[in-house]
Amino acid sequence: MAASRSIIISGAGIAGLTAALALSKRGYRIEIHERAERIETAGAGIQLSPNALRVFDKLNVLDAVKRVAMSPDGVRILSAGSARQIRTVPLGASAIERHGIGYLTIHRSELSQALLSACNEDPDITLHTASAVSDAVNHPNGISAMVTSATRVNTHRGAMMIFADGIHSAGRAEAFAMPGAVHSGFEAWRGMIPADALPPGFDLENTQLIWGRGAHAVLYPVRKGRYLNAVICIRSRDRSLRLPRKGDFGELLDSLRRWHPSLRQLFELVREWPVWPLLEMPQKGPWHHGRMALIGDAAHGMLPFAAQGAAMGIEDAEVLAAMVERHGTSEAALAAWEALRRKRVRKVVALARQNGRIYHMGWPFSMARNLVLAISSPRNLAERQAWIYDWKP
Ligand SMILES: Cc1cc2nc3c(=O)[nH]c(=O)nc-3n(C[C@H](O)[C@H](O)[C@H](O)COP(=O)(O)OP(=O)(O)OC[C@H]3O[C@@H](n4cnc5c(N)ncnc54)[C@H](O)[C@@H]3O)c2cc1C
Repeated sequence: MAASRSIIISGAGIAGLTAALALSKRGYRIEIHERAERIETAGAGIQLSPNALRVFDKLNVLDAVKRVAMSPDGVRILSAGSARQIRTVPLGASAIERHGIGYLTIHRSELSQALLSACNEDPDITLHTASAVSDAVNHPNGISAMVTSATRVNTHRGAMMIFADGIHSAGRAEAFAMPGAVHSGFEAWRGMIPADALPPGFDLENTQLIWGRGAHAVLYPVRKGRYLNAVICIRSRDRSLRLPRKGDFGELLDSLRRWHPSLRQLFELVREWPVWPLLEMPQKGPWHHGRMALIGDAAHGMLPFAAQGAAMGIEDAEVLAAMVERHGTSEAALAAWEALRRKRVRKVVALARQNGRIYHMGWPFSMARNLVLAISSPRNLAERQAWIYDWKP
């Protein structure tokens, strides 16, 4: 295949693997370089909304994802202090009826595996592990990437370079010379509870979103209901960017001291709490430069409070491939892609921040919030997300 049809991707995360599939489908040959020795993802879950699932459908990976995913009936919003339900927002069958496609929860390693299997089956995609891209430069007709594997540094040439190398992107720092992620002031405690350890009658049919002052938790089933994934987002006492660190449960309990005892007891069932700093990418600066692009968290890492970070990377990948199909591996393709993505991503970043303010309200604002919610119809609450979920590739 001619060099003009060869594209290099740095990073085999959700965005990088999706971009490889989307570009290969358009007739390009893809070389993915992944720094890690093996594609392993943190032991945590992820929610996949209809906008992301439509891309997977188009790339023929939706069935593989569905086979291992769960489809919660809805989101039950609970108050942290009383553990009482404030409202339920319907998902499941209702999401299928409204959006023509569901809303799924899945363990990250199972999602990676589904994407990776599709890449492995594709003769036009080659994945190199233990292979880190440290920098890249533009040429009149393409790019050169500096790739380090074992002890060797090689230069690889391609028609286009896509940095999907995550929140600590080397591409962003070196090839784009742009500032990296900053601490949001929040951190996420992530744990897994085996389903057989849960109290009798525990609701595994719904996602549970628990709102407390300055903190919230999200609980949902993964691994076909064998585990409950728990994420607790609290204000961070530590501003280090490069964790995860090992969480001290006593510290967590102290932060959740006003939470209902039944919730605190539930969290006792988690054996290990890795703690992740929640980082945000500065919004200024381009996402493309010549024939190089930043996608996913490398471009717009955001707070996870709208559960849309990965979904935006998945959308980036599909739109970028569509623009390359239309304009070839040119700067014009990337300029058109960025123009299509900027406004939507900015709106989602703002929504994630706004959700944080709503979830974390203290009394008396929380009382007013709960009242408004209690008189809103579940359908209207679901419609609040429609502009995100209605997106089509
Ligand atoms: C607590 C929490 C909950 C979340 N929940 C959701 C959710 O429910 N739904 C949702 O859509 N999003 C969610 N997100 C966001 C989502 O996890 C991220 O947006 C997404 O994983 C980013 O994918 P990515 O492919 O851009 O980057 P990454 O997943 O970080 O992948 C980057 C890859 O690049 C590799 N790499 C790094 N440097 C190099 C290099 N120099 N050379 C080669 N390879 C390199 C890394 O090893 C990695 O494999 C959540 C985030 C957090 C923190």
